[in-house]
Amino acid sequence: MNRPDVIVVGAGSAGSVTARRCAELGLRTLLLDRKPQEEVGQKVCGDEVSKSHFEDTGIEYPKDDEISTRIAGADVYPPSLINELKVRGWTDFDGWTVNRLNFGQRLLNEAVRAGVIFRSGIHVGGPTTIGDQVTGVQTKDIATGEEKTIKTKLVVDASGFAATIRNKLDTPLIENNIDKGDIALCYREILKLKVPLAEPEVARVFLGEGTAPQGYAWIFPKGLQEVNAGIGVTGGEGKGSPKAYFTDFKNRYPLLFESTVIDGKGGAVPVRRPLKSLVGDGVAFVGDAALQVNPIHGGGIGAGMRAGIILGEVAREAIARRDVSAKGLWTYNTRYLTNFGRRLASLEIFRRLLQAVSDEEMDYGFERRILEAGDLMAANKGDGFSLSAADKMKRVRRGAGKIGLLLKVQKAASLMKKMNKLYTAYPSTLDGLDAWEKNVLDIIANAVFE
Ligand SMILES: Cc1cc2nc3c(=O)[nH]c(=O)nc-3n(C[C@H](O)[C@H](O)[C@H](O)COP(=O)(O)OP(=O)(O)OC[C@H]3O[C@@H](n4cnc5c(N)ncnc54)[C@H](O)[C@@H]3O)c2cc1C
Repeated sequence: MNRPDVIVVGAGSAGSVTARRCAELGLRTLLLDRKPQEEVGQKVCGDEVSKSHFEDTGIEYPKDDEISTRIAGADVYPPSLINELKVRGWTDFDGWTVNRLNFGQRLLNEAVRAGVIFRSGIHVGGPTTIGDQVTGVQTKDIATGEEKTIKTKLVVDASGFAATIRNKLDTPLIENNIDKGDIALCYREILKLKVPLAEPEVARVFLGEGTAPQGYAWIFPKGLQEVNAGIGVTGGEGKGSPKAYFTDFKNRYPLLFESTVIDGKGGAVPVRRPLKSLVGDGVAFVGDAALQVNPIHGGGIGAGMRAGIILGEVAREAIARRDVSAKGLWTYNTRYLTNFGRRLASLEIFRRLLQAVSDEEMDYGFERRILEAGDLMAANKGDGFSLSAADKMKRVRRGAGKIGLLLKVQKAASLMKKMNKLYTAYPSTLDGLDAWEKNVLDIIANAVFE
């Protein structure tokens, strides 16, 4: 394919879904990945994906060898490891842990079946541009060393955390300096446990500075006696390595004693609101490259797949109209950011709250149930916590010993609502973006909970 309509860089979950949708809608689509074909899908991850993403997009559920195990519920532990919150019937979390390789191979195969031309072992060095307009990509065949420039109408950066295209573009519309505090550095192991799990469908999440500074630890079941367990820490400089925190956690948490390591690796994931614009001239971003990740739990498989479906449709319309400028692609911004992106943005506030609460306050909050399972579910939807007056009074009584904590929770709830509203009113054209961004940054600057 000498001059495809669309080049998608990266065949992870976001890139494969985007490419498939583009091809289904009749676009000549080239999908490039530097990995060998048989390794596409392999990824250091917690492997958990919720059913809701499939229900909302029409992407077929994982099945057979794509599934490690079914997940139905989560136990969220405070630093003291007692008074955990048992979250059940959380439709935004219930789903599966997947076999990442098999699941990724399925998404790639579906793209190829839809007509996508896939090339593996191709490293994309960066975009080609004329002024601010992206016109193609520079590639290098990893096996032969052959270098090429491929021209196209639209480049989609789906290269994950590396953001290979985005990081080489320098225009005011495209953000490429992501704050270190908005990145979670992670380490995870696949472990064979000494004893079978008592509740093999329940995920466990552990909060607290002592466990995972500015982050959390997780144990997600992969089977009756196998788990994906790891730690993510944020906050930039001055923190220990995630592996060191994980080793400490493993030595303290009895379930993991004497387990056997099947695999252990590190990774990174953005935990911020999505990019202020998911498009530029001749270019669009999807998945981790677009910061489409849930800021409280780092889940990005679903967030990126949802975006891929929308982007494919917008690309089709823009190319038909012969306008692949940022203006021509703008409906990708409005469709994603006013909807799922809105949820991710308000969750950044909740992440900042969780990071600011001390271990002592967190233990107290769990003991007195200042936040309940329903609040976590509402927060995860990005709705904030809608407390009735009576409800508020009950909590004030329960939390009387720590009024400061209550005030922090209330402030976060109010900022989440503001963020929600702001994203609902995402500008319908490029002209309104600067004013809108200023309001977003004002809310973020206010999201300090001391
Ligand atoms: C430790 C950890 C735990 C996580 N746990 C979960 C979880 O439980 N649930 C969840 O939903 N999410 C989780 N995430 C996040 C999730 O893994 C990502 O959000 C998701 O995989 C992003 O998909 P993507 O397609 O954007 O990027 P990726 O899956 O990273 O795919 C990017 C692709 O681009 C290719 N590529 C990169 N650079 C180039 C280049 N220069 N040239 C050619 N190809 C290139 C790569 O080879 C890769 O195939 C976790 C992340 C980490 C690090």
